[in-house]
Amino acid sequence: MSADTVYDCIVIGAGVQGSFTAYHLAKKNKKTLLLEQFVLPHSRGSSHGQTRVIRKAYDQEFYAHMLDECYKLWAQIEKEAGVRLYRQTGLLVMGPENSRYYELVKNTLQKNKVPMVALTRENFSKHIPLVNLDEGHGAVVEIPAGILYADRAVKTAQGQFQKLGGVIRDNAMVTDIKPGPLVTVVTSSGVYRAKSLVITAGPWTNRLLAHTGLELPLEVEKINVCYWKEKVPGSYNIKNRFPCFIQTECQDTKEHIYGLPSNEYPGLMKVCFHAGFETDPDHRDKQKNTSDIDILQRYIARCFPGLDPQPAVVESCLYTLTPDRNFVLDHHPAYSNIVIGAGFSGHGFKFGPIIGKLLSELSLGEVPSYDLSPFKIRRFHEKTKSAL
Ligand SMILES: Cc1cc2nc3c(=O)[nH]c(=O)nc-3n(C[C@H](O)[C@H](O)[C@H](O)COP(=O)(O)OP(=O)(O)OC[C@H]3O[C@@H](n4cnc5c(N)ncnc54)[C@H](O)[C@@H]3O)c2cc1C
Repeated sequence: MSADTVYDCIVIGAGVQGSFTAYHLAKKNKKTLLLEQFVLPHSRGSSHGQTRVIRKAYDQEFYAHMLDECYKLWAQIEKEAGVRLYRQTGLLVMGPENSRYYELVKNTLQKNKVPMVALTRENFSKHIPLVNLDEGHGAVVEIPAGILYADRAVKTAQGQFQKLGGVIRDNAMVTDIKPGPLVTVVTSSGVYRAKSLVITAGPWTNRLLAHTGLELPLEVEKINVCYWKEKVPGSYNIKNRFPCFIQTECQDTKEHIYGLPSNEYPGLMKVCFHAGFETDPDHRDKQKNTSDIDILQRYIARCFPGLDPQPAVVESCLYTLTPDRNFVLDHHPAYSNIVIGAGFSGHGFKFGPIIGKLLSELSLGEVPSYDLSPFKIRRFHEKTKSAL
């Protein structure tokens, strides 16, 4: 492409959301440029690592609705690219039987007719050996839930985008955005123009939005991604059909604790705390708080007796949180040809293909396939107004 090329769309940020947005735009024959500040692949944002959980176990039903199509879109790109991105493991959901959140999750699964098995205290250990169910807690297994191969999924979306004629420029940090009927995007390695712009910059979103006079209430947190050694190798392994799990709350914390069967590192199971500590994405590892790991140690010692309650490996990742933990999928309030996908609040990976589809629809001025009211920017202002 020459320096004078006018793209139909420029997407900033080649994490899972930007990569799938670019892929959907290219599928619609739109001339699309995907810009990434780092050399790809990288592990500085939110989409790196080998695995993520896909589940319908949500307290809000609109997420479960979107997942119907999402599973189909994951299967579609698997078929197109000839790669495996999803593996069914089931998801064990454990929580206090009388808590509102646990009830809502169970209701969502039931109302949406998701195949599930409710476990009783009597048959729990027969089905799920080597896990202790807390007193007063219930357990259900969401059967179709599973894992997504994260790094491979992002690479696949980028690869399919390129096969469709899309252009990726990595090592190209966006340093300025000039809104207008044609948006000008200035990077460390060139200047580009497009009819529309999608910003999917993860933890750096507000830094980019500052060029457009907008700031969203986003908080960036560093997450400690902990792997725990199996005392007997294989006891929590994916091949032995150990499921993913979510503990909605417990005596150690009101936050979720979640885990994935041992898979990517033989003999190590990933168990994490679903919250972290505020950080600057450019100085992620200055944040050294590990009080979450203390909570996980207590939980693992009590409920996962087959794991050594000391993490063997701790990696890092970033969450970008909105106050209500729902995403931002919307037009820029001042510039309708700038679209924002942000605030995926630690649960956005599974939605990658559908987010990509929705952001491509918004950027082309099409009616989005779903009601996007939970994801509008104006909800933040409405909250502020009602608080005054
Ligand atoms: C530990 C952990 C576990 C998780 N588990 C799950 C799970 O089990 N299931 C699930 O569904 N979700 C999960 N998530 C959440 C999910 O991974 C994220 O919601 C998702 O990856 C967010 O993707 P993104 O594309 O918005 O952000 P990112 O992946 O951070 O991508 C943003 C990109 O924009 C680039 N960028 C930023 N600024 C610029 C600039 N100026 N110029 C050019 N490029 C720029 C960045 O370099 C980055 O590559 C988890 C997240 C973490 C951290």
